[in-house]
Amino acid sequence: MNCPKCDTDLVKKYYKGMFEIESCPNCRGMWLDSTELDKLEDMVFDNDERKGSLVHFQSKTNCPCPHCGMDLHEFQYRLYDLKLDYCAENAHGFWLDAGEDERVMAFMNQREGEIQRKVDAESIWKLTLKEMHSFLRKK
Ligand SMILES: [Zn+2]
Ligand SMILES: [Zn+2]
Repeated sequence: MNCPKCDTDLVKKYYKGMFEIESCPNCRGMWLDSTELDKLEDMVFDNDERKGSLVHFQSKTNCPCPHCGMDLHEFQYRLYDLKLDYCAENAHGFWLDAGEDERVMAFMNQREGEIQRKVDAESIWKLTLKEMHSFLRKK
């Protein structure tokens, strides 16, 4: 398989010892199979229902999928300020440029913080309502 960006031969590598990816020794990008982006996110935040939808505003690029050679599509990742490429035609997987894996994990970290704060605010509000009710009942 060749790198979609610079055509160098991709080499297999263990990503942080967790799962196997294809990485480019030249531009340091990496190819993740379709389930592997999820695995990458799950290392930080594994609540799939609360991640938000993955693909927004996609458009075609000139970079070929290393599996099928079809043009990859670029998309906005979960409405964050990050663009990733993926094989829209055959769902083979995702291309991440150098450093984009760290950004994915940083966004998932941020997301987990947002969800946590939201859950906290909800439970505080519920507690407040409960206190108000019991206060009213005493009257
Ligand atoms: Zn490359
Ligand atoms: Zn493909």
